[in-house]
Amino acid sequence: MTDRIAMTTPLVELDGDEMTRVIWAWTKELLIEPFVELKTEYYDLGIEERERTRDSVTGAAAAAIARQGVGVKCATITPNAERVTEYGLSELYPSPNATLRAHLDGTVFRCPILVEGVLPYIPTWTRPITIARHAYGDIYKAVDLLIDKTMAGATVELVATAPSGAEKRLPIHDFVLSDDPSGVVLGMHNTDISIEAFARSCMEYALETRQDLWFATKDTISKIYDRRFRDIFEQVFESDYRQRFEAAAIEYFYTLIDDAVARVIRSEGGFIWACKNYDGDVMSDMVATAFGSLAMMTSVLVSPHGAFEYEAAHGTVQRHYYQHLQGEQTSTNPIATIFAWSGALHKRGELDGIPALSAFAQRLEAASLATIAAGDMTGDLYALSRLKEKRRLSTREFMEAIAARL
Ligand code: NAP
Ligand code: MG
Repeated sequence: MTDRIAMTTPLVELDGDEMTRVIWAWTKELLIEPFVELKTEYYDLGIEERERTRDSVTGAAAAAIARQGVGVKCATITPNAERVTEYGLSELYPSPNATLRAHLDGTVFRCPILVEGVLPYIPTWTRPITIARHAYGDIYKAVDLLIDKTMAGATVELVATAPSGAEKRLPIHDFVLSDDPSGVVLGMHNTDISIEAFARSCMEYALETRQDLWFATKDTISKIYDRRFRDIFEQVFESDYRQRFEAAAIEYFYTLIDDAVARVIRSEGGFIWACKNYDGDVMSDMVATAFGSLAMMTSVLVSPHGAFEYEAAHGTVQRHYYQHLQGEQTSTNPIATIFAWSGALHKRGELDGIPALSAFAQRLEAASLATIAAGDMTGDLYALSRLKEKRRLSTREFMEAIAARL
């Protein structure tokens, strides 16, 4: 206990909900505080505190991450109608992740954690595939409209009005002309600045991790919208990255999204796949599941303004939490939460010039994986693992087994 590693800049700590909140406290107690003189700026994003502060705590936390540079976030409840009743909420608060991404902008990088004994469903995947998801705009900031009975037969147009009064109009659909006079319409947008920031963070990340970068859209069909993404990526690459990529012996590769999906399945892995917001949402769950488990994935939001937010990609594991409340022992996988902490501590060490802190973060990751490789694991991995000798531990037992290796 005597030689705990000291920190200089506090880590912005965003606590959360349910089973992951329990895992959060145990991670600090068992795996970090015995080794690090932990210094954090604490924000409680648990649902009760969001209710008490009318969600202002989330905005304050986002501002703190922007100020301090590194945050670590626990999984949180995104309120829906059931949660409003369950917690007596006075409002349907937005998803904390959406609030944080809106503040910090940027790109979410998600990378599966490979472990001995758990084989990906795709046998050729021997190296991880990192999904880089654009975190701004498209359908996540869209407006949509029901053309119902009252609007049946409507003429729908896209209208842009410039401050000068100049106007551009495009017909979307004349419902009156079709056999079916009702339906749905959608209007969405993105901005050049956000797309460019997305391109730059992907290219920086490719250089940092020395992996090829793939990008795909449907620009054969979406000749202006998706084409804009393709063009901006190409401009950024040609002007600022081609030479650096060549020097690092890595490639930038553009293809159509359907071609990309086919190539990803046939690949060996070991690259970054940049995805537009919706593609990234869907594909990261596909990739994580195909590699084994949602709980075996790292996730970091890289903001173009130089801030990093590390989190677990899964939710609050509600079903396990209710068991925990009944006094039962759960077997919930804490790896993604532990790796959020190790990622954040590693980055803090790097930025503040504290190599011992970064080295500790690596040791924590290695100890976690070695514990699983030795056959001690939680239920989700127990069901998948092909190790001959394996033991299904409770959440706490598994975390104690990791601590014993540190
Ligand atoms: P979830 O928490 O991801 O859990 C869904 C199921 O996946 C669990 O019931 C469990 O399956 C399995 N699972 C997920 N993480 C696991 C882990 N670490 N170890 C073992 N099994 C794990 O999703 P949810 O139950 O749909 O959502 C619960 C709450 O989380 C919701 O309020 C949602 O809003 C929130 N959420 C938050 C985030 C975030 O903060 N980033 C993301 C997604 C969802 P079994 O039950 O079969 O064991
Ligand atoms: Mg999703």
